[in-house]
Amino acid sequence: MNRSWVPVPDGSDFPIHNLPYGVFSRPGEAPRVGVAIGDAVLDLSRLDLPAAGSFAADSLNPFMSQGPAAWHAARSRITELLTDLAHRRAVARHLIPQTEVRMHLPFGVADYVDFYASENHAANLGQIFRPGQEPLTANWKHLPIGYHGRAGTVVASGTPVVRPSGQYKRPDSAAPVFGPSRRLDIEAEIGFVVGTPSRRGQPVSAANFADHVFGAVLVNDWSARDIQAWEYVPLGPFLGKSFATSISPWVVPLEALTQARVTPRQDPSPLPYLTDGHRWGLDLTMEVRLNGHLISRPPFGSAYWTPDQQLAHMTVNGASLRTGDLYASGTISGPRHDQRGSLIELTWNGSEPLELPDGSRRTFLQDGDTVTISAVTHLANGTTLGFGEVTGTIEPTATHPGDQ
Ligand code: MN
Repeated sequence: MNRSWVPVPDGSDFPIHNLPYGVFSRPGEAPRVGVAIGDAVLDLSRLDLPAAGSFAADSLNPFMSQGPAAWHAARSRITELLTDLAHRRAVARHLIPQTEVRMHLPFGVADYVDFYASENHAANLGQIFRPGQEPLTANWKHLPIGYHGRAGTVVASGTPVVRPSGQYKRPDSAAPVFGPSRRLDIEAEIGFVVGTPSRRGQPVSAANFADHVFGAVLVNDWSARDIQAWEYVPLGPFLGKSFATSISPWVVPLEALTQARVTPRQDPSPLPYLTDGHRWGLDLTMEVRLNGHLISRPPFGSAYWTPDQQLAHMTVNGASLRTGDLYASGTISGPRHDQRGSLIELTWNGSEPLELPDGSRRTFLQDGDTVTISAVTHLANGTTLGFGEVTGTIEPTATHPGDQ
């Protein structure tokens, strides 16, 4: 592909091969759709583009709902505008420095599902929560395990996260207590965004993944481990997860990720509805930073279940898709200690505190802590393509401490 006439700094997450979509505004202006190129945002609402009407919206939903032919046409035209010097004069005035804009939640979240795709993560959590038993449950290698989360509390990157309060039970006491979570954690994940809806009663094949899924975002699935541990049997996560889920402002289109595809080895072979078509594992390296210090580099390509299989499983009972549905991979952890995607794994349930370079120690998150997750993939042509970042800072609980 050609180079862009827009200067793109070396190592930028946003070369011409990426062109992720987001919703931005400058002070006093209405939010609208743009794409990231280098250090700039291209204001799509001001350009003569296919689907132009949908770019003046304050969410990506109108554009995403149009389907893969419209996505491809828009991306092709934007690529042409940003590479052909003939368009430079007309287009350059619609480039805005990213430092001047505020990024918003990029799409209206319809339903939200969170999966559990990483074998290393599932095995680590199994050992921590169910010591002495098989780390993986009997169903784990036969279906992508997931749960329905809370769409209304998916928030834009940068939104403060208030420490949740809830009910939890200490191991040495007979009765539960109520109070601020003392085991507030993160989960480093990649999320997939549905553009094209489907009809209720008609499952979506794994092979049709790219007809329905528009793109991918970074996800931090904030998790209160003490609340989760007490409540999760037998119906799964509930209030330990539903208080906040942060996503990155830029949605990387699937079309930008085709060169990053990988196929994980699966043994035993899953049922036929989970093996239709080719897999959409992605060779992404994620990075997790706590107050600026790199604490983990989870490899997304190590996930056992892939997003196309998760989509097929999520709809195999006839459940329909809506534009804006978000489903996340589940915490990604690699086999190595420094590849674990949550604090509960990095500190082994708090028994092995992390030492930060500034001399402080952490088991779980403290008020004021900031967690930032990023991800990049290195393409065969030598360019790097990234997701930007998702970040959030913990604020003190709104609950009076005396409530305990
Ligand atoms: Mn999760």
